[in-house]
Parts: sequence; structure tokens; C-alpha cells
Amino acid sequence: MDHKTLLKDMLARVAIASGIVYATRALLWRDRVAILLYHDPDPQTLDAHLAYLKTICDLIPLEDLHKPGNGRPRAVITLDDGHAGNAQLLPIFVKHGVRPTIFLCSRIVGRPRTHWWLYPGAEHAGIERLKRETNDQRLAELEVLGFHQDVDDRATGLTFEQIDAMRVQVDFQSHTCFHPILTRCSDDECGDEIRRSKREIAELVGSCEHFAYPNGNYGTRELEYVKAAGYKTARTCDVGWNDMHTDPFRLRTLIISDHAPVRWFALQLTGIPRLIAYWRAGGGLRGRFPQF
Ligand SMILES: [Zn+2]
Repeated sequence: MDHKTLLKDMLARVAIASGIVYATRALLWRDRVAILLYHDPDPQTLDAHLAYLKTICDLIPLEDLHKPGNGRPRAVITLDDGHAGNAQLLPIFVKHGVRPTIFLCSRIVGRPRTHWWLYPGAEHAGIERLKRETNDQRLAELEVLGFHQDVDDRATGLTFEQIDAMRVQVDFQSHTCFHPILTRCSDDECGDEIRRSKREIAELVGSCEHFAYPNGNYGTRELEYVKAAGYKTARTCDVGWNDMHTDPFRLRTLIISDHAPVRWFALQLTGIPRLIAYWRAGGGLRGRFPQF
């Protein structure tokens, strides 16, 4: 183990021994719904996480979110972006009888296209800095590096064949067309990304009723556009659990590290690591994702 992993493991051991992990489950999670957010986990890690989860909560599909609970904690598994690696997870979902939701970027999957932050050169240019630029500026800078969001290149998303093979076990929903930061888009771009992706995902898998804000960035405008487009819910990156009183267009989440050892995963389920990270980034104390 490297130093950081070792430190995290020690922190997680202390948190578990102190009763914080158990206490948050009893006092905060209760019978509410935790929506877990993954991106591109490996099958072994996800297998271990799901095995652990089944000992502490019920795993439910996103569409059952607003059904009344039975007293036990509940969790929904979601994965963002439609990474090619998600295809390897199908046997794990089948093994555990889990129906996850994968939020797809409708113009990236099914084609040799690249999620923009995975384009060689984007990292060197500074992904976090690029996210804060206006959408036009970000795309212009990426074009100088050779990236065009609507031109075929290297495939980083699921193929149509993979999506088709996963449909029996997986719910596919919308995560925009190209994964822009919506709050940095013009009104036209923002509305188009939200509406067109809904249409395209529905054409692909039959229906599309749920949305996830790319990078967790949203404001009043994005929320109104999502509502007007006819979605039933939208998932944010704000920390917390959901129940019948949660605004369906501001669903709360627990972001999970794709490669977290089970002990660290148990600590991430308390929401505490994210709360601290958001607070340090200026998001305040209520678990709101720091917006820009
Ligand atoms: Zn995303």
C-alpha cells in the first residue's frame, strides 16, 4: 500500500471502530435511498461493494425511488458517462440481481467518439480549468489540440451492441449528448443538450425519463429545462439521501471512488469524505456540490 492508501485505510478503521459508520446508517440513511454514483469501476471492486451493500441495505432500481420504504436502508446503483468498461460489469449485476442505471452521453456512445476529458492532451491542458471556461472557449481550446466533439476518433464509450446486450439488466438514461458543463453553456446549447439526448436515448432503448447533470453542475435554468423536457427526475452530485420529500429534480447522491477498498467504501457511504471535500472547495456545509 502507498502512503495515501494506508492513511485512508487507517481513517476508515478509526471511523468504523468509533461507530460513525453505523451511526450515520441508523440516524441519517435510515430507510431512505442512497443513490451511489460510479463511473468506470472494475468488476472485482464492484463485486465486493455489492456483496457488502447486500448485508446492510436493499438494492432497488431508480424507478422505485419514490416508493415507501420498509424500514431498511435502500440504495440505487448509478454509473455516469457510459464508459466502455461498463460492459465488463454485466455478469456482476446479474450475479447480485441488481438493476443499475447508466447515464449515457447520447452522441458519444455507439460511435468511435471520445469523452472530452479523456482526450489525450486534455489532462495537460487542465481538465478542472477547462470545465470552468464557457462552453465555446472550452471547445475552441480542445479544437486546437485536435479534438472535435462531433467527429469520430477513439471510442471511449459503450458500443450499441454492448448497450443492447445489457438492456435486460440495465436501465439506460440521459447524461446529455456531449457532456458539456451545462452552467457554462448558452441557453440554446443547454436546452438542446437536455432535449436532444432525451430523444436519442429514447430512440436507442425505448424510453428516457431520468437525467443526471454532467459534473453535478446545475442551477435554476438547468432544472427548469430538464422539467420542461419531460424528465421525471434529475440526479445532482449534492451529498445526501433521498425520500418522498426530496425534490425529484435535485436528487442527492453519494459519489463512490471506482477502486475503493471495501473499508473506504463503507466510510464513503457516510457522506463524510465528500462533505469535507465540498466544504474545502467552497460548497458550504450542507453538502451542496461547489458550483461554477
Ligand atoms: Zn459525467
